Amino acid sequence: MIIIHDVIQARENISDITHETPILHSSQLSDICGNKMYFKAEHLQKTGSFKIRGATNRVKRAVNDRATFITAASSGNHGQAVAYIANKLGVPATIVVPVDANESKLNAIKAFGGMIEKCGTTSAERLPRAKELATEHNGVFTPPYDDLFVMAGQGTIGLEILEQLEDTDVIVVPIGGGGLISGILTAIKQKKPKIKVIGVEPETANDTYLSLRNGKITSIPATTTIADGLRTSQPGNLTFPIVQKYLDDLVLVSEEEIKLAQSFVLERMKQLIEPSSAVTVAAAMSRKLGVEDKNVVCVFSGGNVYIRNLASTIS
Ligand SMILES: *Cc1c(COP(=O)(O)O)cnc(C)c1O
Repeated sequence: MIIIHDVIQARENISDITHETPILHSSQLSDICGNKMYFKAEHLQKTGSFKIRGATNRVKRAVNDRATFITAASSGNHGQAVAYIANKLGVPATIVVPVDANESKLNAIKAFGGMIEKCGTTSAERLPRAKELATEHNGVFTPPYDDLFVMAGQGTIGLEILEQLEDTDVIVVPIGGGGLISGILTAIKQKKPKIKVIGVEPETANDTYLSLRNGKITSIPATTTIADGLRTSQPGNLTFPIVQKYLDDLVLVSEEEIKLAQSFVLERMKQLIEPSSAVTVAAAMSRKLGVEDKNVVCVFSGGNVYIRNLASTIS
């Protein structure tokens, strides 16, 4: 488990690289949701998502420990973040991606200075390859969520919210593998436990929901939810105990609710967020949070969307 001290250290470790992102407000969404709605703008973070926080904390430690090569297995936001920070620290990085990864994501990894190796179509194929590459080249593999440094890095969002909006009542967080929420839970529950933390998953990617219900890590079959950052098949071994210990509530949202929320945020707030972020707004708009007249902060976890597909994905 991580403790608040790890999160505070992570903040010192990453603050020269990451932005302290702003908290936005919308009175229109406040009216619709029946709460005062605020948004932690990680879609405006370096590399377009919060993943740079955990990646920076992890990769900096590795480089301090004299790693000369970094690997990761992700064509998405994590891969981009690892490519960026490794390049910034002057260490080569290879990102292992599926053979069918879309060109815009590969271009982003390359633009951030990462090298690409294509391998298989499933994470069961990619993960061992990324670890093997690290071993072969005396390097370090960077997991997307199930890692104490990564979790502590993501938790720095919680510390920032505490300072930026002192009278926060509720924080709403998307759940994939649970790195983001386990970090935020650690920061919030060990500093200001009265604040409620509510997790959100798509109905078809409800692995954490089922794991909590079953009292043990439970995996689900592959899903095609539009929220592609939340498609993990099960929570992490390190993240799940923290979720189990601290999480106040977990809400599920439908694909239609996610699309509606993403469109609404774009049209009314002029903010481009990705579906994995929109799940938090979807939960609030469909009045599933079970709170009223509270100061609610939704974490906008990222804003990386393939622009050419945007018109067909939003409703
Ligand atoms: C990775 C990611 C998530 C989920 O984070 P976990 O740490 O896997 O729970 C949510 N939103 C975006 C945009 C992401 O990239």
